[in-house]
Amino acid sequence: MGAMENKSLNIFNSKYVLASPDTATDWDYQSIEGVIGHEYFHNWTGNRVTCKDWFQLTLKEGLTVFRDEEFSADMQSRAVKRIQDVRDLRERQFPEDAGPMAHPIRPDRYIEINNFYTATVYQKGAAIIRMYHTLLGEDGFQRGMRLYFDRHDGQAVSCDDFLAAMADANDTNLDRFGRWYSQSGTPEVTVATEHDEASGCYHVTLSQHTPPSHDQAEKIPLVIPFAMGLLNPDGSEVILQLEGEAEAVGTTRLLILDKDSQRFTFTNIHQPVVPSLLRDFSAPVKVLYPWSVRDLSHLIAHDADTFARWEAAQQLAQNCILAQVQRRTDGEKMQLHPGLLDAFAGLLRDREADPALLAEAMMLPADDYLAEQMEVVDVDGIHAARQFIRSGLAQALAGPLRERFTELDDAGPYSKSSSAMARRSLRNVCLSYLVKTGEGNDLASAHLAGSNNMTDTLAGLRGLVFNNAPGAATALQAFENRWKNDALVMDKWFAMQAIKPGHETIHEVKALMEHPSFSIRNPNKVRSLIGAFAMLNPTGFHAPDGTGYRFHADQVIALNAINPQMAARMASAFNRWKKYDESRKALMKAELQRISTESGLSPDVAEIVNSALK
Ligand SMILES: [Zn+2]
Repeated sequence: MGAMENKSLNIFNSKYVLASPDTATDWDYQSIEGVIGHEYFHNWTGNRVTCKDWFQLTLKEGLTVFRDEEFSADMQSRAVKRIQDVRDLRERQFPEDAGPMAHPIRPDRYIEINNFYTATVYQKGAAIIRMYHTLLGEDGFQRGMRLYFDRHDGQAVSCDDFLAAMADANDTNLDRFGRWYSQSGTPEVTVATEHDEASGCYHVTLSQHTPPSHDQAEKIPLVIPFAMGLLNPDGSEVILQLEGEAEAVGTTRLLILDKDSQRFTFTNIHQPVVPSLLRDFSAPVKVLYPWSVRDLSHLIAHDADTFARWEAAQQLAQNCILAQVQRRTDGEKMQLHPGLLDAFAGLLRDREADPALLAEAMMLPADDYLAEQMEVVDVDGIHAARQFIRSGLAQALAGPLRERFTELDDAGPYSKSSSAMARRSLRNVCLSYLVKTGEGNDLASAHLAGSNNMTDTLAGLRGLVFNNAPGAATALQAFENRWKNDALVMDKWFAMQAIKPGHETIHEVKALMEHPSFSIRNPNKVRSLIGAFAMLNPTGFHAPDGTGYRFHADQVIALNAINPQMAARMASAFNRWKKYDESRKALMKAELQRISTESGLSPDVAEIVNSALK
C-alpha cells in the first residue's frame, strides 16, 4: 500500500514520505503531498466516521481521494491536477470497469477484500463524490459534509448515510443519483448536435448507454451531470441561453441527463459554433461525438475550459494514431496529418498558457489507453504508429521545440516551486520529442550531465536508454554507481529498464532479477521491475512468442507463496486477455490456467485468475 491511516499512527511506504531534491522527482513531491494529505484527511473521513462493513470501503476512500485531489489542486495548478486525475481514472479504472473484475464502487460480493482496494473504489468513488459537488455546488456540498459529521461523529456508517446527509442538508432527493453506487461499467454518452441557423436553435441530444458487464447484464440510466459550452468562429465563448430560460447567462451550462436520451436546445445561435463537451470532466463517462479535425483544432486553440482544451488535443492525437494503425494493417504508408502538426505548433507558440498544461496537452495518449479504444488490440501497430507520430512531429517542429527547450532552461539553482516544476515538465516533454531528431542523443547526454535534480536526470537518462544511444549503458552504470545504496532511487533505475519498449527487454528484466539490489520480497522492488514490465511495457509484455507472459506467470506463482496481495495485483496484468488477437489470447489463457492449477493458490490470486478465466 501507499500508506495507512491508523489513528495516531499513520504508516507510510517510504516512497510516500522520504524526499530530497537529489533523489525525488517533481512527481514524487506531488505524490508525497497528496498521500500525506490523504492519510491526514482520513482522521475525519475514515476514522472519526468509519465504515460499518467492508462493502462501504468507498465511503471513506472515494471521499478521501476527492479531498486529497482538491487539496493538491489548491496547492498546485488546479487545471493540471484535474487532467492528471482524469488521465489516471481513464487509464486504470475504465479498463477495470470493462474487464472481468468490474464491480460497482460499493461491491456486493467479494472473496478477498484486499482485491477491492481498486481504482473503482478509490478513483471512480472520488469521481462520484465530485458529482455531488457539481450538482449541489460548493456551499451545498459543505452543508452536506457538516451534517454528515454532526450526525455520525464516532459512528460506523454506510454510503446510504452519506447520501442521506447530502440530500437532507440540501432539502433535495438524491435517490436516483444513488444508482451510481450499485451499477458497474463506464457509461457512454453519445452526443448528436443539429443547428437550425434560420431559427437560431442549436439542438443537443444526449443519449446514455452502459455496456453490460460480467457482473450485471442489465443496466439502468444514471444521473449524469454534463457540462458544456459553445465556441464562436472567432474562438470566443457563446453566452448561453437554453429554451425556456429568460436570458442568456454564463458560458458553461450543466445539463442533467437522467433518462436514456434527452434533447436540449440552445437559442439565439446565429453563426456556426463548435461544442465543447463534458467540461472539467463533469462525470466519469466516455463521450462519443463525430469530431472533425477542424472542430478539435478550434477547441485546442481557443477553449476556455482547460480540461476540454486538453481533451481536444488528446482526441486529435488519438484519432491520428489509430488511423495510422489502420493504414499499417492495410499495408499503406503512415502519414502525419497536417491538422495535428498545426495544432501542436500552436501549443508550442502559446506563451500565455501554464507550461504544465501545454506539457499535458503535448503528451501523446498512452499505448494502453489507445489499446482500450480498439476492438482487437494491435500491440505492435499502436507502438509503431505512436512512434511514427512522435518522430514526425519532432522532425517537423524541431525548430520550435528546440527554441522552447532552450528558453525554459532555468539557469539558476534548483527550485521546487510549482512554476519551476511546470517549466521542467514542458522542457522535458520537448526533450522527449527532440530525442527523435538527429541531435537527440547529444541533447539527452547534455541534459543528464547538466542536471541538478532527479526529474531532469531521469528525463535525460530515459532519452538515452529508449533511443538505444551509444552512451546508454555507461549512463545507467554511472547512475547505479551513484545510487546503489539508495533503495528508492534504485527503484527508478529498475523501472526505467523494465519499461524500455521492445521484445528484447525481457532479457534485461530477467538479468535484473539477479541484481543485488533486487528482492522479490520487497513490494516496491516488485512493482518497479516486474510490475512496470507487465503494466507499462506493452511491446515487451505482449511479445508475440509469449515469453513475457510466461515470465510474468512465473513471478505471480513465486509471489503467491510470499505475498498473496502483491501476487493478486500482478496477476491482474492478464485481465484484458480477451481483447487481444487469437494467438496472444491462447498464450495468455494458458498462463492463467497454469496459475489457477498451482497447488496452494491463495484466495487473493484465485479470485483474480478465476474471474479472468470465466
Ligand atoms: Zn485511504
